[in-house]
Amino acid sequence: MAERRDSDSRMLLGRLRDAMAEDSAGQARLNKITHLIASSMGTEVCSIYLFRDEDTLELCATEGLNPEAVHQTRMRIGEGLVGRVARTKRIVNTADAPSAKGFRYMPETGEEIYSSFCGVPVQRLGETLGVLVVQSKNKRDFSADEVYALEVVAMVLAEMTELGAFVGEGAALSARHQQPVMFRGSSAQEGAAEGHVWLHEPRVVVSNPVADDPEVELTRLNDAVEQLRVGVDQMLAGAANGDKDQLEVLEAFRMFANSKGWMRRMEQDIRNGLSAEAAVEKEQSAARTRMSQVTDAYLRDRLHDLDDLSNRLLRILTGQGKETGADMPADPILVARNIGPAELLEYGRSLKGIILEEGSVGSHAAIVARALAIPLVIHAERITTEALNGDHVMVDGDQGIVHLRPEDSVVAAFRDKIAMATQAQERYASIRDKPALTRDGIEVKLYMNAGLMADLPSLEGSGAEGVGLFRTELQFLIRNQMPKRTELAALYSRVMDAAKDKRVVFRTLDIGSDKVLPYMTPQDEPNPALGWRAIRVGLDKPGVLRMQLQALLRAANGRPLTVMFPFIAQYDEYRQAKAEMDKAVERERILGHPLPETLDVGAMLETPSLGFAPQKFFEEVGFLSIGGNDLKQFFFAADRENERVRRRYDTLNVSFLTFLEGIVNRCNSTRTPLSFCGEDAGRPIEALCLAAMGLRNLSMRPASIGPVKSLLRRSNLSEVRQVIVDARERGDQSVRPAIMDYLRSQQA
Ligand code: PEP
Ligand code: MG
Repeated sequence: MAERRDSDSRMLLGRLRDAMAEDSAGQARLNKITHLIASSMGTEVCSIYLFRDEDTLELCATEGLNPEAVHQTRMRIGEGLVGRVARTKRIVNTADAPSAKGFRYMPETGEEIYSSFCGVPVQRLGETLGVLVVQSKNKRDFSADEVYALEVVAMVLAEMTELGAFVGEGAALSARHQQPVMFRGSSAQEGAAEGHVWLHEPRVVVSNPVADDPEVELTRLNDAVEQLRVGVDQMLAGAANGDKDQLEVLEAFRMFANSKGWMRRMEQDIRNGLSAEAAVEKEQSAARTRMSQVTDAYLRDRLHDLDDLSNRLLRILTGQGKETGADMPADPILVARNIGPAELLEYGRSLKGIILEEGSVGSHAAIVARALAIPLVIHAERITTEALNGDHVMVDGDQGIVHLRPEDSVVAAFRDKIAMATQAQERYASIRDKPALTRDGIEVKLYMNAGLMADLPSLEGSGAEGVGLFRTELQFLIRNQMPKRTELAALYSRVMDAAKDKRVVFRTLDIGSDKVLPYMTPQDEPNPALGWRAIRVGLDKPGVLRMQLQALLRAANGRPLTVMFPFIAQYDEYRQAKAEMDKAVERERILGHPLPETLDVGAMLETPSLGFAPQKFFEEVGFLSIGGNDLKQFFFAADRENERVRRRYDTLNVSFLTFLEGIVNRCNSTRTPLSFCGEDAGRPIEALCLAAMGLRNLSMRPASIGPVKSLLRRSNLSEVRQVIVDARERGDQSVRPAIMDYLRSQQA
């Protein structure tokens, strides 16, 4: 019996394929398909509904319903039984449709006389493209086998839709991947860019969803799975000492690669007439649908793993590697689910923009994108399924919005925005060599943050006074092995060469929390941001710190050197770190190496505790730099990585500004040089308020120097200070509204 069913289903698929091969228009093909399905299933009705826009389905072809209703009957997602299938992505199978929940009577189709209804979603990779429906007059429940056969047919329909087989008149049949789509993600690096899509991992194209000989396909599937298993085992052997997360992923891979259920379902699909790759994709699609429905993070991760594994299997089966032969466009905008920092650096500045489905503001990729000043939008859901290589795309890194295949009106508006930004850049260039001198004669020194050699050219272009923060961890993060002292020394030396006489503040390794080195055993900490990180690691396991200090001293080779330690929470930590520096200097002296002409050693103030450190600390430390990103997260107890709480507390909150003012006062009383190097220093309004609180050195991304300087030069700092003082006296929570009002009144 099973044999016969399989061959029935195969026969239907074979006919479908023949129908597709005929040289007919999209509509004729769809009509033929509904006819074939209805006759093969013995039902009076077979209809295909496809989405015409995000939430409207349209009847696109039917056998049995009133032909005049085609392209006329429409329903919203969730409306009627068809809409219910589309919304829930679940099959509706009922012998008594009129009594089923959600049934909607549509007189134009003459549908009331049909009592049995079976609708299955037409899905590709978890995305619902439409609904396939069969209906009959007699009251019957469609058997599990029939439903299953319909699912297989729906899968082939989805593939064909994707391949553009049904392109015809009307919105529902307009070519997929040609319509404009807007994605609302989050901003991880500001800036606007226009260009063309470059997929980091191009989608595998399945061009033969239907196969003639199941035996051949089963052998192909088994061979490919075997190859996959061997590959995963090799990866596991290679990663035996690797980090825990990676091992966990690989173990999950192995579990799936050996999963009997997974194999059984794919084999059954092949017996029903699918090709090996279509069977893999059908499973992948089901996993994606489940992925969108489960809330448990662990389960989602595992489904993600299964998705990755399916991709690998598809690549083995189709022979399609990452290399598709496509040429990278001249203005590439990278589209990926996620990307590692090393891969991103390989693309380097050739990219105009980056769009990720996942990622986080603090991820390594975001750090690199920021260092390269490439606009980055994260959480652009489903962009990898929608975008095709070469698609026209616009990235709004300020708003976190992406326009894929934008309409002319959007293009025009977006280009205006870019032109305005360019004009502003020109204005900034004209003040590049001028000081950030306020109208009331106070000068604020503006420095830039850096982390890569590639950042250094910006020193000249931005007009920065120097590098206020050189994050050394990027060099550690982008490698698979701990860098050697000689490599580091060479790099630091080149950084100093490039900076010429300008000061560069090197920050020693700041790892832990979100920054995990691939070659260090990760710590299983309940609260990594409050955990073993930065100087805590450096002091507990001083090997790397010592190596780095030596590399810095060698790089200076007699030139002035400035070094600061991250995340100093108490006086003692600074004393111990400084003692390491003194020892390193002493060792160099004994070895007869040149010592720095001057050596300035400071600390980052990133925890509120240091603001209350003993007076002696302030007297002893060479300088302080406020790491506002961390300081703010600890001041408000709001995780800087957590999108939900991150924006809840304003930097211009009166309590925070008052705290900063307290630090300024303490530093002034001991004449301790003070700067601020968190992201807020690069936001003009925030920078203005920081300056009004008494900060005279700000370090920021190079691109921010122009806008910050421009606003400072137009401002009267004592007036701004008065606005803040008044707001504080009034009991305002944030001074932002008052400052905005003041700035507006200045413009008027
Ligand atoms: C900060 O915390 O503000 C800072 C500059 O350091 P990072 O962002 O690298 O933690
Ligand atoms: Mg920090």
